[in-house]
Amino acid sequence: MSAPFQVVASAGRARAGLLQTAHGVVETPVFMPVGTQATVKALSSADLTRLGARIILGNTYHLALRPGAERIASFGGLHRFMSWPNAILTDSGGYQVFSLRDRRTVDDAGVTFRSHLDGSEQRLTPERAMAIQTALASDIAMAFDECPPSDAPREVIEAAISRTTRWARACVDAPAPPGQLRFGIVQGGVHLDLRRAHLAEIAALPFDGLALGGLGVGEAPDVMYGVIDAVAADMPADRPRYLMGVGTPKDIWTAIGAGVDMFDCVMPTRNARNGHLFVRGGHINIANAQFRDDPRPVEDGCPCECCASYSRGYLAHLFRAEELLYYRLASIHNLEHYLGLARRARAAIVAGAFPASPW
Ligand SMILES: [Zn+2]
Repeated sequence: MSAPFQVVASAGRARAGLLQTAHGVVETPVFMPVGTQATVKALSSADLTRLGARIILGNTYHLALRPGAERIASFGGLHRFMSWPNAILTDSGGYQVFSLRDRRTVDDAGVTFRSHLDGSEQRLTPERAMAIQTALASDIAMAFDECPPSDAPREVIEAAISRTTRWARACVDAPAPPGQLRFGIVQGGVHLDLRRAHLAEIAALPFDGLALGGLGVGEAPDVMYGVIDAVAADMPADRPRYLMGVGTPKDIWTAIGAGVDMFDCVMPTRNARNGHLFVRGGHINIANAQFRDDPRPVEDGCPCECCASYSRGYLAHLFRAEELLYYRLASIHNLEHYLGLARRARAAIVAGAFPASPW
């Protein structure tokens, strides 16, 4: 089988690539909308297809607890369950279970935790995380990792790294469904020496792609940019590089410039629901009184369904009235902003010049 990823153009360290999955070719750089519970909140599959999304993210932790991985498998996998024809990346659940903090205990074989839904005792191990992602039949499965808090002492991060490497080996050895790609995760907090050492360990394993985890979790943006800038340059050039869970449009553009290919973040959809709508170079808060009388679209020139037909004044009304249509239109606009950003980045790279700012 030929390599699933090819770099087709570059500008400086920024790369444009093609990632072959079992559900189509994904052009990179790419932003992956987050579909935590087998839905990108407020949007249908047709909405996502119209927006040009070619890959979305699903969540092992949430889907394993509800409705259950085996139930989704009985529908033929996550694609058929949620009627999504394009690619799906599933995270391993590591980030979620480690976020539970006082509701989980870690041992060398895995994590025991209490469900946030009903308090029942649950357990995730590398083997179970990969079995769940096999049942979901995702196109890209993430290795099960330990994600320590951003303020953790160095020795805690060192312990998390060695555990993550052992777990990564178990994930590589776990049975995979045909065509599923598997990505390893590099931890190390903001310590460059730990990041580089862990990258060397994870890159030595036969993963199809490599991810940077544990960033955008409370450290200052410039500190995060420094880590990405230093570590992305050392990541293998022939495999896709994925920055997990980050971030603002500026974060994403900066990371693309450092050579990162793939992104996901809840920010566009979560912020949309809170009234925070992205526009070139910043955002507007639709709750502000000034927008009640504003006849302009959210963003001039935006091709999305929201901006094509509706005014800021109408959205401000829907938001105040808590009308359900608000959530759909606002989510469509913010995702267009992120997906369009990645498309613009790719076009710039293919044209041979990647500017320092998208605006
Ligand atoms: Zn728009």
